[in-house]
Amino acid sequence: MAISDIAEYSHLSASDIEALRHELDSIRREVEESLGERDARYITRTIAAQRTLDAASRLLIFLGGRSKTALVLGTIGLGAAKSIENMEIGHNVLHGQWDWMNDPEIHSSTWEWDLVGTSEQWKYAHNVTHHKYTNIIGMDSDVGFGIIRVTRDQEWRPVHLVQPLQNIILGLLFEWGIALHDLPPKVGSKDHTPLSPPRTARAVPSLVRKIANQTTKDYIYYPALSGPRWKRTLGANVTANVMRNLWTYVVIFCGHFPDGAEKFSLDDVKDESQGEWYLRQMLGTANINAGPALAFMTGNLCYQIEHHLFPDLPSNRYAEISTRVQALCDKYDLPYTTGSLPTQYLLTLRTINKLALPDKFLRRTSDDAPETASELRFSQVLYRAAAARAQAQSDNSQELREDIRRGLRTAIAELKRFRREQKRTLRRARRAARARGLYRNA
Ligand SMILES: [Zn+2]
Repeated sequence: MAISDIAEYSHLSASDIEALRHELDSIRREVEESLGERDARYITRTIAAQRTLDAASRLLIFLGGRSKTALVLGTIGLGAAKSIENMEIGHNVLHGQWDWMNDPEIHSSTWEWDLVGTSEQWKYAHNVTHHKYTNIIGMDSDVGFGIIRVTRDQEWRPVHLVQPLQNIILGLLFEWGIALHDLPPKVGSKDHTPLSPPRTARAVPSLVRKIANQTTKDYIYYPALSGPRWKRTLGANVTANVMRNLWTYVVIFCGHFPDGAEKFSLDDVKDESQGEWYLRQMLGTANINAGPALAFMTGNLCYQIEHHLFPDLPSNRYAEISTRVQALCDKYDLPYTTGSLPTQYLLTLRTINKLALPDKFLRRTSDDAPETASELRFSQVLYRAAAARAQAQSDNSQELREDIRRGLRTAIAELKRFRREQKRTLRRARRAARARGLYRNA
């Protein structure tokens, strides 16, 4: 069940993992030492541009009279402004990515974002629970957000039958789901774990206050300012919030639940070294292939792997960091899980729909499935045979033996190739049997 020995799963020795840690530490150090004017300009300009887009979109909705084009453009602009505020600004500022500037307005201790949930509660749930204990079953409550079964490591319950529908509702109401998810659970409730933050007396009142402020702003204040056109403004605000909800939901799900984003079952994370923690982040997350515009709109979370390795480094640096991380994956023969946005989302959707069913309807096991695996996947007979064959091939070439490190990425590729060959052999055998009339039902 899930990965419990990351060194064995990753095919790396203790000294490899330590060497990898040194290389990742030096990436961090170099980026930190080079932070300066250019980065500060980036975030201040991003904030200014986002606020201009927000104001211009609201004005367009208001001044557009009866024009449908103005309403549609204004609503799309407002949805985009809200997405940028949430992801490229809010999420990253609250990670402390810009704290080094010592600007009290762009600081993780003072920023409050345009969502119904409070920044303070989100910071604990996200920065402490999710980023530290990423994808550890029972510790990271972001694995399915407590309502969706995203891995067969999570026990099936009858309520999961409706999760394809729950998934759509969660996408539409994402900010509300996150607000409730981040509220510290009551001691003794089923969601309470030893990692849960203390539920202080002000937890619920501060959430209620934030919800009141947000709903008043979007659904009362701005519509009231629009006078007789209040319905138009109200409709645009509801639509823009839903657009932002759907977009953030898609980006976050694509970063954590496509095939190849592995799950872990560690009993004692105290024994985990820094190098193993890095590896867990690299193997537990997934990227989206994106150009600069799409990267910006995802809040640079298309670089989810780099974000999880260095959550507090400024997001505008993730693109350059990603080339170095990919080079390390090549060097240590590790997978670098990435794909187009539609591919990553469809893989996620396939998992959600498939895992709505009980385990008895699933073919693969939690040691070797598309959405989860364990080190046992490589101890199977299938893999041993594939590895022996690969070894025999590489024995034919001196250079190949010396140049190619045989690690996890090669092992996964071999396993896939071996399975394909097995299927082909089975098909051929069935065809031959059918031709001889021996296998009528084939
Ligand atoms: Zn984050």
